Amino acid sequence: MKNECLVVGGGIVGMLTALELANNGLRVTLVERESVGQESSWAGGGILSPLYPWRYPPAVRELANWSQQHFPLFFEKLHLATEFDPEFTRNGLLIMEPNDAERAQTWANQYQQELHFLNAAQTLEIEPKINKLLPTPSIWLPQVGQVRNPRLSKALKIALIEHPLIHLREKVNIAHLQIQGDRITGIKTTSNGILSGDFVIICAGAWSARLLQDTCFLPKIKPVAGQMLMFKAIPNLLSRIVLVNGHYIIPRRDGRILAGSTMEETGFDKIITEEARQALTTAAINIIPELKQYQIEEHWAGLRPGSPSGIPYIGEHPFVKGLFLNTGHFRNGVVMSLGSARLLVDLLLERDEPIIDPTPYMPTSRMNEKFDPKSPECQACKMCPEI
Ligand SMILES: Cc1cc2nc3c(=O)[nH]c(=O)nc-3n(C[C@H](O)[C@H](O)[C@H](O)COP(=O)(O)OP(=O)(O)OC[C@H]3O[C@@H](n4cnc5c(N)ncnc54)[C@H](O)[C@@H]3O)c2cc1C
Repeated sequence: MKNECLVVGGGIVGMLTALELANNGLRVTLVERESVGQESSWAGGGILSPLYPWRYPPAVRELANWSQQHFPLFFEKLHLATEFDPEFTRNGLLIMEPNDAERAQTWANQYQQELHFLNAAQTLEIEPKINKLLPTPSIWLPQVGQVRNPRLSKALKIALIEHPLIHLREKVNIAHLQIQGDRITGIKTTSNGILSGDFVIICAGAWSARLLQDTCFLPKIKPVAGQMLMFKAIPNLLSRIVLVNGHYIIPRRDGRILAGSTMEETGFDKIITEEARQALTTAAINIIPELKQYQIEEHWAGLRPGSPSGIPYIGEHPFVKGLFLNTGHFRNGVVMSLGSARLLVDLLLERDEPIIDPTPYMPTSRMNEKFDPKSPECQACKMCPEI
């Protein structure tokens, strides 16, 4: 039986993919060029819901919905097995966007999500420090959870190390794929030679397209930077995640409050700017005026793996057998991660009934997104049937 898998990239998506493969009896080597969980998966807010879920295409909603249903048990087991708490907290999401009320209700009915509309007094009752001038009725989603990204990555790393079928290799950079005929046979590292495998799964986040440059199918993944701030606030200043005009604040258990985020296309540089710091500070103080008393402890940027409509690429490469993608989760990589890992394994193992319809995610369904066949890369590669 073919069962040697090479997972490239140790963000949340790669780590969960490795675990899901190994839990299904496959042997896995996870290769990460630095340390696992340090890129987008470290930088994110860990909100376990798309920000305005009704504004996303069904493909994002379906995967988020599946993950949301399975996260509570998953986190409980992870915490128990690793003795490390990723701080999964179901403290809800309050959205101050009355114009979205009708669409929100339709979405809630479709996905059986608990949703309440709160008037100004009710909003203040559950979140007393919130700015009284914010528009109501607010949309209250009490079941939405959050996780603390660095803690989740740490717990996942422990789980990887302890799994008998997983070999974790950090500080190994993958330079190229090794392809013979129409089949993947391994990956070439910049320093340690070739690693052979029956399956290679690309989970390299914003860097994924670079690795696929020679394969005649370039997923449209590009880095989209996001800056965030962390206030050193105190417990009980804020109890739930609040979202206003695309800006959100997230209370952590120790009282710290995250404020996010920007959306910038600045290539692969993780630049932090004074302009973003000002904008995020102003937006956060607009939500909770008392926040101005607290100092900003940290300011950082991460690179989201941007993709068309935020739909990740999950499934086998159109032209290279054994080469799979699980990447391009854009703004919702944490909330979609669990479902993505499971769907990827369903497809790799050719299961008759994958958890959801895989069509919208599969590279084979997304050929119209590919490169220009007249480009020099295409002409040089000659792998796809059109050339
Ligand atoms: C500011 C911000 C806020 C966010 N908030 C949320 C949120 O609240 N909820 C949510 O669901 N999502 C959120 N996201 C998005 C989410 O963080 C990402 O979608 C998710 O982390 C992507 O995970 P990943 O594993 O695909 O990528 P990454 O975490 O970026 O991991 C990719 C890994 O691949 C490695 N790699 C790349 N190239 C190579 C190579 N050649 N060889 C070896 N290794 C390689 C990298 O070093 C990296 O570790 C946010 C993102 C940002 C930036």
